[in-house]
Amino acid sequence: MKKGCPYGTHRVISPKGVLPQPADVIDNTMEIYDNEVLIDVKTLNIDSASFTEIERRAGGDIEEIKKTMMGIVEKAGKHKNPWTGSGGMLIGTVKEVGPAYKGDLKAGDKIATLVSLSLTPLVIEEIHEVRPDIDQVDITGQAILFQSGIYAKIPDDMPEGLALSALDVAGAPAQTAKLVKPGDTVVVIGGGGKSGLLCLYEAKKRAGVTGKVICIGGSPKSTNRAKDLELADEYFAFDATDAVGIYNRIMELTDGQLADIVINCVNIENTEMASILACKDGGTVYFFSMATSFTKAALGAEGVGKDVNMIVGNGYTKGHAEITLQVLRECEPLRKLFAEMYA
Ligand code: NAP
Repeated sequence: MKKGCPYGTHRVISPKGVLPQPADVIDNTMEIYDNEVLIDVKTLNIDSASFTEIERRAGGDIEEIKKTMMGIVEKAGKHKNPWTGSGGMLIGTVKEVGPAYKGDLKAGDKIATLVSLSLTPLVIEEIHEVRPDIDQVDITGQAILFQSGIYAKIPDDMPEGLALSALDVAGAPAQTAKLVKPGDTVVVIGGGGKSGLLCLYEAKKRAGVTGKVICIGGSPKSTNRAKDLELADEYFAFDATDAVGIYNRIMELTDGQLADIVINCVNIENTEMASILACKDGGTVYFFSMATSFTKAALGAEGVGKDVNMIVGNGYTKGHAEITLQVLRECEPLRKLFAEMYA
C-alpha cells in the first residue's frame, strides 16, 4: 500500500506543489493510501453559495443540476464549484481504514466529514435525489478522508439530515461560545438564518441575564423565526447593506454604547461596514459569512477610524461539532425548527 501525506498532497495532479483545496485536479481513484479512510457516501450537503450558483446556471432544472455536478467531479476529482470555489460536506459510512491512519474510525461508522468537498476526492456513480430547498443531494458514490481531515460521528439521537445541516455551520455557534462573556452586548446580523439562530442561542446563553443579545434579520419572516423562539432580547428586520441605518438602530438599542461582539451570518455581499459600525472600539467582529471581503473590512474599518478586532470565519474551532449538536439537544424548539426546515 502506498504511503500518503497527512494533507493529501499525494493526490494532487495539477498544478503540482499545491494543497488539494486550491488544486484544479486531484486523483479520485478509490484505492486508499496507507493513512486514508474510504467512505461510502450517502448525501452531499452542497455549500449554500455553490448550490445557488449551480441552480441558477441550470435554470432550476434538476436534470441540468445533476449534469453540472457530475461534470464538476469528473473534471476535478472533487466537488469544487468552479464559479464560487466552494464545496460543502458529506455524510456516509466508513468502508475501509488504512493501516497507518491515526484516529478512532472503523468500518461501519456513520460520519459527516467536516472538511470541504472542495478538497475531498470524490466519485459520484449516480445522483438519486436533489433537494434544492436545503442544498442536499443523495448519491451513490465514494470519497476519501485524509489523515488531517476532521469529521464528526453522526449521533444516534437525531436524524442524519438534521445533524448534517447543523454541522454545516458548526464553526459559528462554537466560535460564539468562545467569544461571548457574561454581560456582553451581542449583535447577530442574519440572526434568523441557519447559522444565525444557533449563534443567537449560544450568545444568549453565554451573555447571561446581565448581557443583551440583538437579532437583526433580513426580513420580518426570518426575524420572527428568532423572535418566536425567544432567542434574543431585541429584534428588528433591516437591510445590512445600509451601514448607517444599522449603526443608528444599534446606538438607540445600546444607549450609545454599541456592541461588544458583532457576528455576521448573512449570505450576501457588502455588509462589512454595518458590522464594523455596530461594534464599539476594542470590540470584536466575527465574519462568519463567506460573502465577506477582507479588503472591504480592513480598509473600511480604517476609513472610519474603528479599532475593532476582526475574526475571519474559520469554519473550524476545537469542539465545534459537539458544541453545535449540543445546542440542538438543549433547545427543543430550535431542534424542532431545524428538523422542519432542514432535515
Ligand atoms: P442562511 O440560513 O441562508 O442565512 C442567511 C441570513 O442572511 C438569512 O436569514 C437572511 O435573511 C439574511 N440576510 C440576507 N440578506 C440580508 C440583508 N440584506 N440584511 C440582513 N440580513 C440579510 O445561511 P447560513 O447557512 O446561515 O450561512 C450564512 C453564511 O455563512 C453564508 O455566507 C455561508 O456561505 C457562510 N458559511 C460559512 C462557513 C464558514 O466556515 N465560515 C460555513 C458554512 C457557511 P432573510 O432570510 O430574511 O433574507
